[in-house]
Amino acid sequence: MFLRIDRLQVEMPLPKEPDPAAAAVVNELMGGRFGEMTTLNTYMYQSFNFRMRDKLRPFYALIANIATEELGHIELVGAAVNGLLYGADGDGKISAGDAPFESMFKSTGAGPNYHLNGPHGIMAVNNLGQPWRGDYIFNSGNLILDLLHNFFLECGARTVKLRAYEMTKNPAARMMLGYLFTRGGVHAHAYALALQKLTGVELRKMLPIPRIFDSEIPECEKFIKEGSHRKLYRFSPDDYKEVAAIWNGPGLDASEILEVVDGPPQGGPQYQMEGVPEAFIPEYHPEELVDIANKLYTAAGGSQP
Ligand code: MN
Ligand code: MN
Repeated sequence: MFLRIDRLQVEMPLPKEPDPAAAAVVNELMGGRFGEMTTLNTYMYQSFNFRMRDKLRPFYALIANIATEELGHIELVGAAVNGLLYGADGDGKISAGDAPFESMFKSTGAGPNYHLNGPHGIMAVNNLGQPWRGDYIFNSGNLILDLLHNFFLECGARTVKLRAYEMTKNPAARMMLGYLFTRGGVHAHAYALALQKLTGVELRKMLPIPRIFDSEIPECEKFIKEGSHRKLYRFSPDDYKEVAAIWNGPGLDASEILEVVDGPPQGGPQYQMEGVPEAFIPEYHPEELVDIANKLYTAAGGSQP
């Protein structure tokens, strides 16, 4: 089962300007072939279907625990896309005969989908607005093959993220990418170590793929300084401690020691964003909903913040 903490895994300031073109690029990191939906669901289904989990506990714990971190990554990508669309609001009112979103998303192919079918926020689609597919999940049941796929998947995800980075200078998008480069690096490294324990092959010598180091990317600097690249967070009050059997010893830079951190990162607050009444989000006349919410809060003995 899952607990939920109403915070983002990393502090991510709300963008100052809307940037729908960047939003569409970042949406690939959600619903594309190598997006967070794919890493999340691949590891999640592998954990659901894991046989002999008691006897193979460190490997089960690693996959289940990283799956949980990926849940927080879809939340991060979701926040980033919301932030990048925030303020790209319509101008005008239906009741005045206006077309408030006539020109809003002309800059991007995926843009109209955010308004026509979506909440002006994240959708489980790729950069073209095409849906994420369940058959992106890979789970053969063979532990070594699944771990090898996970290693490949993290490297594929890194490749797409590097290309996304090359398509936008938006500081909010790049800040999130910097964090995800670092965390994806931990995941690729962890799967390499798991495979090394099982087969003796030192796969981590191949990292990073592509051959550009996080230290060459300005937005990674902060996270490297914090040691994020050598930390595996344990996303459970008491479980998955067995990950320490895999995530230990020297890092890729032999002077650094790999560390399991008990509990999630400190992270940052969720965005607080106004509605878009012209798009009926959360309504055309939202003040009626606010009145109802206020009455419910009061009746429940609380007061609205
Ligand atoms: Mn991820
Ligand atoms: Mn990952």
